[in-house]
Order: sequence, then C-alpha cells, then structure tokens
Amino acid sequence: MPKDTILVTGGAGYIGSHTVVLLIEAGYKVVVFDNLSNASKESLKRVEKLVNQKITFIEGDIRSREDLQKVFDSHNIDSVIHFAGLKAVGESVEKPLKYYDNNVNGTVILCEMMAKNGCKSIIFSSSATVYGDPATTPILESFPTSATNPYGRSKLMIEEILRDVYVADNAWKIVLLRYFNPVGSHQSGSIGEDPNGIPNNLMPFIAQTAVGKREYLSVFGDDYDTIDGTGVRDYIHVVDLADAHVKAVGKVKNFTEVMTINLGTGKGYSVLEMVKAFEKASGKKVPYQIAPRRAGDIATCFANPSYAKEILAWEATKGIEAMCEDSWRWQSSNPNGYN
Ligand code: NAD
Ligand code: UDP
Repeated sequence: MPKDTILVTGGAGYIGSHTVVLLIEAGYKVVVFDNLSNASKESLKRVEKLVNQKITFIEGDIRSREDLQKVFDSHNIDSVIHFAGLKAVGESVEKPLKYYDNNVNGTVILCEMMAKNGCKSIIFSSSATVYGDPATTPILESFPTSATNPYGRSKLMIEEILRDVYVADNAWKIVLLRYFNPVGSHQSGSIGEDPNGIPNNLMPFIAQTAVGKREYLSVFGDDYDTIDGTGVRDYIHVVDLADAHVKAVGKVKNFTEVMTINLGTGKGYSVLEMVKAFEKASGKKVPYQIAPRRAGDIATCFANPSYAKEILAWEATKGIEAMCEDSWRWQSSNPNGYN
C-alpha cells in the first residue's frame, strides 16, 4: 500500500532531519520545507546519503502564504509534522516579538494554508517547558502548564490555538508532542545537532568541551535538592524521538480528540551524571567548574511517558550510553558541525 506524503516543516533542522530519515525508511514520501534560518542544506545532503535517495526540499518560510501554496500546488500533502520554529530561550527574552511572529504567527498561517488546501492533520513540536516548575515528578500530561519566557509562552499559545482550531472544526487531527531533552545523533554520526555559536544546552556543550572546542563546562548550580545538587533532566535520544513521530503520523488519522503526549524516557540524570557518562563514552576528560544557578532553571524535570506507550505504542529504547556514544561520534567526526 503506498504510504502518505508528509510535509516536514523545519525538516533541515536537528530533530527534523532525523525524523526525515526514519519517515523515508518507513516508506513515507517526504517534502521538507525550511527557511534555513537555523540549518544548512548540508544536513539534507547527509540525509540523502543515509537513505540513498533524493530528498524533495522546498526552501520557504511558514509565514509566507505564497511559499506554502507552492508546496500544496506541487504535492498532495496528507499530514504535516511541524518542527519549524525558533528555540533559543535567552534570545526569546531579548526579542519576544521575533518569537511570537515566527512561532505563533507562522503556525497560524501554516494552519490557514493547510485548511485552504484540504489538509487538516498536524503533529506539533511542543516542549516540557510548558510545565514550568512542576510541583512533583514524574510529570503527567494533566499537570498544570505555565511559561516563564516568550519561547515557552509561544509553545503554550500554539497548543491553545490548535485546540481552538479543533473545537471549531472537528475534522482536524492534532497531536501535541511535548519533548523532554532531546540529545544524541543518528548512529552513523553523519547528522546531529549543530548549534549556532556557544551552545545553550548541556549535551552539545559537553561534547564541544570533550572535543577541545571549549575549555570547561560551567555547571549551573550545585545546591539544588537533587542527588548531587545539580539539575536533573529527562534526556531522550533524538532517534527515539524521531521514531515517536513516525508512530504518531501512522495513527493521527484515527484520533478523535486533540492528543497531548509526553516524549521522554521517564528517567532523570543530573548534570554531573551526564558528564561522567560522556567521559566514559568518549574516553575524554570533560573539565567543569561549578557556577551560579542559571536564571529560570528548575531543579528536576522528568516525564511519566506511559501515555505515549498506551496511545502510540512507543517507548524510548536508547539509554544514556547510546545518547553519549552517538553524540560523541557526531561531534568527533564533525568538530565544526556541518561547516
Ligand atoms: P532546529 O532549529 O534545529 O530546527 C528548526 C528548523 O526550523 C530549522 O531548520 C530552521 O531553519 C527552521 N525554521 C525556523 N523558523 C522557520 C520558518 N519561519 N519557516 C521555515 N522554517 C523555519 O531545532 P530542533 O531542535 O530540531 O527543534 C525542532 C522543534 O522542536 C522546534 O519547534 C523546537 O522548539 C522544538 N523543541 C526542541 C527541543 C530541543 O531541545 N531541541 C525541545 C523541545 C521542543
Ligand atoms: N546546564 C549546565 N551548564 C550548561 C548548560 C546546561 O549546567 O552549560 C544544566 C542546566 O542548568 C540544566 C541541565 O544542564 O540543569 C539541562 O540544561 P539544558 O539547557 O540542556 O536544558 P533545559 O534546562 O532547557 O531543560
């Protein structure tokens, strides 16, 4: 049976490129749409090598109705996996309007153009940041939501907008995937996370320190109420995450309500546990210094992922060793990312 055609917005980016590989391996037709604001065409060239076929790529912006119309004119899109968005928390505090325009306005225009062209099935990249500072862990989907910065607020707003879209028209099929902390890379080491400038996130910072690009890691706080005083997060391998999207796209047409689903492993690791695991996987030292807490950080965040298992028949299969080994393979064979 021929499989559906999936439009992947933001498909040249970190999570998108990994998802494109798995979608094609699962037999889907894929159209990648990206404005390359935080990605390069090189990631798609690498994807082409991995799947041994050409990738259909349309360069464009989700805020442009003309760009999107070109996609719908040239392809019969069954579902959209919507990764396109800006994701730097610090930048969102400095430039809130840029984030609301790109993420919120962009999603509104995307949905408008989908409806206009008869495509009403969307899987959206939300984030565990919508749980704010949770009262307890593990975190269930039913926990209260809040936002402490414009990036997080853009995710919450989009979730609400998509729920309203469904209320107005029950023909929509909508899945909100709340990612915990995506890390790692494809096991080939040929695609991976390529942050611009100094990494904000822990894992790429550790990897760049191990490869000698950074002198030492600053550990933001060692006085949290956690196993060793450092922050605890639910790191999830990007290939597991990509696999959840393949499962979601296979089931999305059957859903009769807006589905909100946590994607995590259910296990939390501290910053120092991650440093240790990375040193073991890479055979390199990761020097670190204890620094003050980072504003807005919380002590502990990890998922209860049982709803994903129930609804998507998905669960994370790759542990912290694979996350560190694959991240190191990517970092050590591409010390300057895609450049
Ligand atoms: P990424 O920056 O690597 O990928 C996003 C892609 O979207 C980039 O290729 C970028 O060029 C593209 N893009 C941005 N704005 C666009 C626009 N207006 N039109 C077209 N393309 C546009 O980021 P990622 O880590 O792959 O994240 C993908 C999605 O998952 C984002 O929505 C992000 O907010 C969300 N998310 C990421 C994380 C994480 O830690 N990586 C965690 C939770 C949620
Ligand atoms: N962290 C750190 N040093 C860094 C980057 C992050 O100590 O250079 C810590 C951070 O305080 C948090 C954890 O690592 O406890 C994960 O941070 P990240 O920014 O990757 O994810 P988030 O905080 O958004 O969950």
